Amino acid sequence: VLDVVRAASDHPTAHQILERVGAAQPGIGVATVYRTLALLVAHGQILELQLGDEAARYDGNVARHDHVVCTRCGAAADVPAALPVEAARAAEAATGYTVQDYELAFRGRCAGCGG
Ligand SMILES: [Zn+2]
Ligand SMILES: [Zn+2]
Repeated sequence: VLDVVRAASDHPTAHQILERVGAAQPGIGVATVYRTLALLVAHGQILELQLGDEAARYDGNVARHDHVVCTRCGAAADVPAALPVEAARAAEAATGYTVQDYELAFRGRCAGCGG
């Protein structure tokens, strides 16, 4: 399961991971895959993402990064560019909070769906 998530660059859902693991290892159970995903998330080896669609998506890239999500087909890609530090400073100034982290998802149309 970990190999499948790490090999994927498309941020698959649990269902997609189940299909891929099942192709390599026929007969593996749904419950086993879901339980393994939960364990890997709990141990910080993969990320569980909520990208706006109904199903959680899984990411083998655990380094700090953001995403861009296609509003038509649901494709998701990594965005290596960081938000300017001024954005966090502005949030702190407006709220009095100390910002430690943030999650960001840009939304739009992927190249395949046409801008
Ligand atoms: Zn698309
Ligand atoms: Zn990612």
